[in-house]
Amino acid sequence: MDSVISPEAVLRLRELFGDRLSEAVTMAPYTSARIGGLADFLLEVRSAEDLAEVTRQLWDEEVPFRILGGGSNILVSDRGVREVVVLNRARKIHFFQEDEARYVKAESGAVLGTIARLAGDRGWSGLEWGATVPGTVGGAVVGNAGAFAGDMASVLKMAEILQQDGCVEEWPLERLEYGYRDSVLKRNPGSVVLSTTLELSASTVDACKTKMSEYSQKRAQSQPSGASIGSMFKNPPDDFAGRLIEAVGLKGFKQGAVSISSEHANFFMNEGEGTADQVWTLIQTAREKIMEKFGVSLELEIELIGEWLENEAALPKHGKGSS
Ligand SMILES: Cc1cc2nc3c(=O)[nH]c(=O)nc-3n(C[C@H](O)[C@H](O)[C@H](O)COP(=O)(O)OP(=O)(O)OC[C@H]3O[C@@H](n4cnc5c(N)ncnc54)[C@H](O)[C@@H]3O)c2cc1C
Repeated sequence: MDSVISPEAVLRLRELFGDRLSEAVTMAPYTSARIGGLADFLLEVRSAEDLAEVTRQLWDEEVPFRILGGGSNILVSDRGVREVVVLNRARKIHFFQEDEARYVKAESGAVLGTIARLAGDRGWSGLEWGATVPGTVGGAVVGNAGAFAGDMASVLKMAEILQQDGCVEEWPLERLEYGYRDSVLKRNPGSVVLSTTLELSASTVDACKTKMSEYSQKRAQSQPSGASIGSMFKNPPDDFAGRLIEAVGLKGFKQGAVSISSEHANFFMNEGEGTADQVWTLIQTAREKIMEKFGVSLELEIELIGEWLENEAALPKHGKGSS
């Protein structure tokens, strides 16, 4: 459960941030699932410097906060969020060359798909897979996002990380300790990704665009479109969460306005006015049935954000898997 911000700290926040501080903000529009209750406080940042400054101020005031990128890997509770939500809209993107090497430096709130398409427009290859992955490059750095055999680990040169002591460090790839959809930042939350530099390779505009459109087509054929959080569960070793969900007869199963996709059972779709509690019931149903029939404990791929009940927040989130 979130820690509640004291009345004194609330006054201090209002004093520090003035009109910039939004209060009682519905989170649903900031998430790909279009689900989530009220955040007590929201601050929007528009540059990496601003992100660093706001973060340092919140640390100084000892106010808990949560960085929000594209909201495409999180389920926000219907009961809302008590931490300050820092909405990352730091989106500067800069392409440059050093000798033969090609780099793109992007602020962490830049949309991964935009960076991929701009790289493609230059005929710079390596990030075509990113055109199909929702969210910001900051979220992608944290979770080692990937698709079609590419991932952040295969392109990242360096990430600028703001640490809890207020210092900014340039972390090379090795320091992120990347694993499958996993990193040291994900295992130990608290640091903030300010920007990242990716190394790409020379190709042609045609080749990049062909690859991106192939990937988009493949995705359109294999995954449902509409409001969702992407893959709900990690794939257990040597199996697929979607296959298991289908095998226990839950494909197409509904709870209120949320359904388990009949195209890809690891996608839970919000068909309109879906709620986090409805998603949660489906998560529980799938986990219980799969445990009963196959003895497999599915772990969440997504993160639960906001005020959840103790037993909900305790669901295992980190573990091995593949998709
Ligand atoms: C339809 C769909 C398809 C998807 N397909 C894929 C796929 O193929 N491959 C894949 O890997 N993922 C996929 N995802 C999941 C999602 O796109 C990725 O996890 C993405 O990288 C999340 O980025 P985000 O900006 O939305 O992060 P958010 O959901 O906003 O945040 C995720 C976590 O990262 C933290 N965070 C975000 N930015 C920062 C920052 N700057 N500093 C520190 N912490 C930060 C947040 O606090 C949170 O804990 C899919 C999602 C959807 C909805």
